[in-house]
Amino acid sequence: LQPLHATPGAGIVRVLTRDSCGLRATADITGYLAAQSARQCGPCRNGLPRLAETLGALAYDGRCEPREITRLAALVDGRGACHHPDGAARLVRSALTVFADDIPLHQRGTCCVAHETPGAWSLR
Ligand code: SF4
Repeated sequence: LQPLHATPGAGIVRVLTRDSCGLRATADITGYLAAQSARQCGPCRNGLPRLAETLGALAYDGRCEPREITRLAALVDGRGACHHPDGAARLVRSALTVFADDIPLHQRGTCCVAHETPGAWSLR
């Protein structure tokens, strides 16, 4: 990843196939990250579950504005006792940029990959 000036971020690598939706995949990963913390700090107890829920609402139901997701990511960033929430926030911000063209599709109730099966996201 170094030649691309990229890092593994939260330490998760997920390969997107041609029939994968990047927004939904990111919502799934964010839900996983929210579920894996000890929930001892505010960002993990409240922020990450809310961030995952909000991103999932956009990715799966088209019900959320990206601005709200960005706001929640900023709220958890740098506020934990470790960098777990920071990595999740970076992942989410990156996904909103990389998959920006897909967001209007989701808001109109469709998806870049209409036939994708739901992922492992489980905080809904
Ligand atoms: S910020 Fe780190 S230490 Fe605090 S609850 Fe989250 S994972 Fe645990």
